[in-house]
Amino acid sequence: MDRVYLIIAYVMASLLGLCFGSFLNVLIYRLPRGMSIVSPPSHCICCNHRIRWYDNIPVLSYLVLRGRCRDCGARISLRYPLVELGNCLLWAGCVAWFSGYGIGMVVVACFAGSALIVVSVSDSETMLIPDSMLVILALCGIAALLLDVFGVGVGIGWQSRLIGMAAALVFFAAVYFGCRLVTGKEGLGFGDVKLMTAAGLLLGWQGLIVAVLIASLSAAVCMGIFSVFRGRRRLREEHTQEDEKEIPAKAFPFAPFLAVAVGITLFFGQPLISWYLGLFL
Ligand SMILES: [Zn+2]
Repeated sequence: MDRVYLIIAYVMASLLGLCFGSFLNVLIYRLPRGMSIVSPPSHCICCNHRIRWYDNIPVLSYLVLRGRCRDCGARISLRYPLVELGNCLLWAGCVAWFSGYGIGMVVVACFAGSALIVVSVSDSETMLIPDSMLVILALCGIAALLLDVFGVGVGIGWQSRLIGMAAALVFFAAVYFGCRLVTGKEGLGFGDVKLMTAAGLLLGWQGLIVAVLIASLSAAVCMGIFSVFRGRRRLREEHTQEDEKEIPAKAFPFAPFLAVAVGITLFFGQPLISWYLGLFL
């Protein structure tokens, strides 16, 4: 692509990504609560005042208002500017990484990445994965498969994608039902099963393995750190002898790790696989 066009593409993708990030915040708040995503218009969740257009500018408004509602002074979550900024960087990254394959793959990666942002933030806040985002992820997988068939995709191949989808469904459904049978508890949510089935289609079977490895390793490390901190707090609280509420085992959401790992694999999966295979061949 011509250098000028590429610069225009970066600027466009960043600005669009920023605005779309604002919409992702709406989805993150409303989808798990079963609310409509079009009405009512954006309002403060504390005082219900409608948000003026000039207070709804991504990132900038948050900085100007210093993270507080103009009407009631309630604190606005830092999640809002972070999601907007994250989506802005994601979309610019998609242009950088996928523009060599053509516009089709850029668009697919943008939408898949945004859906993964909604999945990871919703799940860490509410323990719910909106089904509509999984549908979008699956549609991105189908689109990526078609791009491969027409020779303008990343070249994972339709066979690898279909095998990835089937393998993810069988493996994660087995873990899900196996855990329920053996322990009577849900080891992972059924949303995780659906998420990884769509991810298998998006990444192919090799990429799926990479994503599962990244998610498991990072979750294990974070769980370790989390349990150390919880242990320390316990020791401190023993002096006050407050009745301890047992933190349930499912209080650790796995989907954000899966979603982030799928995103990383979407970008770096193929270089990682080539590097790994290169160690042996
Ligand atoms: Zn307010």
